[in-house]
Amino acid sequence: MSNLRKLIQDKNRIVVKIGSSSLTHKQTGDMDYIRMEKLVRELSDIRNQGKDVVLVTSGAIAAGKNVMKIKDFNTRSQAEAMAMKQACSSVGQARLMMTYQRLFAEYNQIAAQILMTKNTIVDNLNRYNAHNTFSQLLKMGAIPVVNENDTVATYEIEIGDNDTLSAIVAALVEADLLILLSDIDGLYTDDPRKNPEARFIRQVDELTDEYMGMGKESTGSNVGTGGMNTKLIAAKIATKSGIDMVIANSSDIGVLHRILAGEDEGTLFLAKKDESFDLPEFVHNLHKT
Ligand code: GLU
Repeated sequence: MSNLRKLIQDKNRIVVKIGSSSLTHKQTGDMDYIRMEKLVRELSDIRNQGKDVVLVTSGAIAAGKNVMKIKDFNTRSQAEAMAMKQACSSVGQARLMMTYQRLFAEYNQIAAQILMTKNTIVDNLNRYNAHNTFSQLLKMGAIPVVNENDTVATYEIEIGDNDTLSAIVAALVEADLLILLSDIDGLYTDDPRKNPEARFIRQVDELTDEYMGMGKESTGSNVGTGGMNTKLIAAKIATKSGIDMVIANSSDIGVLHRILAGEDEGTLFLAKKDESFDLPEFVHNLHKT
């Protein structure tokens, strides 16, 4: 175990992000209850160790799409697709939360829902309120379960993907570790699904332009929105805010306690606090370049 990995054992405020493709069955799009249950058990156990836990979860649109029996959004006009996605997220978020509530209750934990948009961060009063709510919930021992408020977030005000959202949440709650659970082991020099020569990167000491260039647009899944590109944007937000970040494969949810035990899982991005990093400004400018 490397010394830097060992330090992860001392992290006290942890944000975990899980994507839609990790929460649903590929064949049917239905929720993968076993995976969700394992996730909730792991998070509850981390909470029982006295650590603060925040879960950023996708899956609202995927769940709603399934309930409403919609095959594809892309066959429709952009406006119609947007309206349907928002309707699906409304149905799906309730389902998702109902499942989390039930599972967390089994482990004697209190789950609390927080839905955010870009404005939650850009607007000073909203950000202040959100910060206070998170702090209070954590103080009371609850586990905030966060998603983007897709029902009202149109392109102009959306964060757009939960990788970015989870890093924003980590910065807002002054977390000391962000874990992105994904369908990939971590960062590779190139897309390993296409390039067999791609090499795995265990640790990123400083997020240079070379690393940022390793982001790929596609995820290989058709339910989530985050590819490696959004994970690297998340890494930028997290590390500049002074937060370590790990990307790891969600195929075995047990990876969570191994990461927290300091084991060498996934890719570790080391915090490099940048005092000039302005979160509201960064969020305001998202999607503008
Ligand atoms: N907020 C979206 C949902 O819950 C997912 C965004 C993402 O996949 O990153 O369905």
